[in-house]
Parts: sequence; C-alpha cells; structure tokens
Amino acid sequence: MDMKENQAAAMPAGAVDMEKLEKLAEVAVKIGLDLQKGQELVLTAPLAAMPLVRLITKHAYLAGGGLVTTFYNDEATTLMRYQHAEDSTFDRAAGWLYKGMAEAYANGSARLAISGDNPMLLSSQDPDKVARANRAMSTAYKPALEKISNFEINWNIVSYPNPSWARQMFPDLDETAAVKKLADAIFAASRVDVADPVGAWKAHNAKLHERSAWLNGQNFASLHFKGPGTDLTVGLADGHEWHGGASVAKNGVTCNPNIPTEEVFTTPHAHRVEGHASSTKPLSHQGTLIDNIHVRFEGGRIVEAKASRGEEVLKKVLQTDEGASRLGEVALVPHSSPISASGLLFYNTLFDENAACHIALGQCYSKCFVDGANLTKDEIAAKGGNSSLIHIDWMIGSGDIDIDGIKPDGSRVPVMREGEWA
Ligand code: ZN
Ligand code: ZN
Repeated sequence: MDMKENQAAAMPAGAVDMEKLEKLAEVAVKIGLDLQKGQELVLTAPLAAMPLVRLITKHAYLAGGGLVTTFYNDEATTLMRYQHAEDSTFDRAAGWLYKGMAEAYANGSARLAISGDNPMLLSSQDPDKVARANRAMSTAYKPALEKISNFEINWNIVSYPNPSWARQMFPDLDETAAVKKLADAIFAASRVDVADPVGAWKAHNAKLHERSAWLNGQNFASLHFKGPGTDLTVGLADGHEWHGGASVAKNGVTCNPNIPTEEVFTTPHAHRVEGHASSTKPLSHQGTLIDNIHVRFEGGRIVEAKASRGEEVLKKVLQTDEGASRLGEVALVPHSSPISASGLLFYNTLFDENAACHIALGQCYSKCFVDGANLTKDEIAAKGGNSSLIHIDWMIGSGDIDIDGIKPDGSRVPVMREGEWA
C-alpha cells in the first residue's frame, strides 16, 4: 500500500483524453471513496492537476457529497523555498493546516489525494534541508495521517499525468507526447479505458478478495521466495490477515484507497525473516534512485545491505530507527499484472509496487491483523507487527520467482510459479 502524496507544473492542452479523465474522476468518487451523501471531502492536488480536480469536484457533488475543499501545491513555489528561504525556516511546517485537516477527518470528512509529483523534484537540493523539511512536515501531519493510516475514514489516491513527471519517465519524447503516453498508462492501470470502469473495478475487487480469502484460509506460517539472487523466508505475523482491493474503513464505508491496485498484502513477523533478497526494479526514494539492492536478514533484521546505486541513501534509510531495517509488509502481485505488462518504470510507488511482488521496510498496517481495528500498539508488536517512521516498498518479484507457503507443520503449498498464481 502507498500513502505518499504530491507536488506540481503546467499542462500542454489536448494531451489528455478528457473523456477518460472524467471516467477516472467518476471511479475515484464512486469506487475509490464511495463518497457518502452529505460527506465532506478534503482534496489535495498538484496545480497541474486542476482539470482532474474540477471533474472530481463535479462528480463529488453529483454523488450528493457535502462541501469539497481543495488544497493545491506547486512545484515552482516549492523550489523557491529551497532557493531563497532562510535556513531556519526548513524546520517549520504549516501545523495549523494539518491540524485543520485532522479536525476535518475527525468530523467525518473523506480524503482524496491526487499524486503526480516530479519524482526528482528535490534531487538537486541540499539533502539536509530536504530531510529537515520532511521531518517538520511529517511531525505536523502525523495526527491527520494517523486517521488515514488507521483507516478511520474512507480515503483514496489517484494520479494525474503531470508534465514534469511525464518528462522524467520519457526523456526522449517531446512534452505533449510524453504526457499522452503517461496519461494512457495511468488510464489503463486505473481500468478507466474500458466501457464500464465501475463494473470493471467491481470484478477486479472480487478477484482480489478471492485471492486474499484463499491465503487467509491457508493460514501460512511463512512464505518462501526463491528466484535469481533471492532465497528468502518471510515469517508472517501471528494473527495476520491478507487484504486486497476494496476494504471497509472504520467509518463503515467500503473504499479502494489506492487506484491502481493489484496487490494482496499482509504483515510479516518483524523477527522471523531469514535469508537474502535482491530487488528486481529500481526504487525511487526522495529524488534518489536506489538500484540493485541486495540485503541479508537475520532474525528479521537486515544485517547486510548493498546497492549498485544509491547505497549511501539506502543505508541512511535503514538507520532511521529500530524498525526501519525490519519488514512491515509483504505483498503478492502476479507478473502478468497490467502495470508489469506495460514494462514502464513510473518512479512512483503507487504504480511500481503494483508491478511485482514486494516487501516494505518499516511500519506495518494494523488492518492486516484479524480484528486489527481493536488491537493496541503493544498487542500488534507482540504479534510481530513492526513499527517505524518509514514505510518503503521495494520490488523482489519477477517472472522468475517461485513462492511456497509453509504451514505451521512445515508442509509446503505452491503459491506462485514463475511469477504467476500457482
Ligand atoms: Zn504494497
Ligand atoms: Zn506498502
């Protein structure tokens, strides 16, 4: 799962199919949020995504939603801060704004984020300032973000083909062609390029539910991943529960937090991961590309980490806190998923994590436990749930990976063969 949000730029007219964009807006409101009659909506978006903001606002009101309030951000003004602001301001964040958002969620508002950052926006800025600004923002945002990560409200992230993001993905194309290509990829991955997108999402959710129900029925003690550069046994948390597709938020509304989504996922045991794993796709982290990751686990903890590129950043990430070198998520995605089939690297977790089986360093999701909503932090930790300030997904799946489920008695059940469901 991904909870990351966004930044911004300006839009070359005509590059985005407005009919499909409207279908995306409708899917975001009806499937992503299932916005309730009278329910308020807090929307955040890059400035460049204004066409999608307007369509989402229209569909929110058509669905009977209450007040829609949008907050825009803009890449150019974000960069001005790094160029001209006083050094001391990098420890500040707009706490009053995040407090207001937390209050809105506490009062029952839904949350929708449009993502579409230039993944490399801050890559040439002072890493110390970037880290300080992020820390200040994370601290101020925490009370609001917790309402989202604890799934207290219905929430959703969809994407818009920002020109600055499209240029990163397709540096050899001119801007209009790049935006068109990214737009088509977003529409296909978000299942809005079909006649009946809402129907297609219902069918897709049913399939993901069937997969997670099967995995829950098996109640595996661990999963064994075997492929080139990977021989990894991931113990699953006690009382873990698999999830995928739409699920019910604590306010009773069934929503699809991530669009697209192809994964079924659960919580690994923070102390029961052994062996080694190699990444199968580069990981884009705060403007740095980390490539060819290879790690070795002992007792659930990463004791050795290498990367052909971005190794220093990776090591810094692992040192964030005690939980940063342990796993908080394991997810299964077939190699034939539409995002994987596109062959594209999006430099955006929302897409890239849905192209391959993955593991995530850091914080686990409380909903991935049986009766997770009623467990305390200590109870989750006692069952093996990890906690950390970070949650970073990285891909270990490919068409060459085999996965076995291992039962408590040691017997094995094939789960995936050559990257596909067995
Ligand atoms: Zn995931
Ligand atoms: Zn994740």
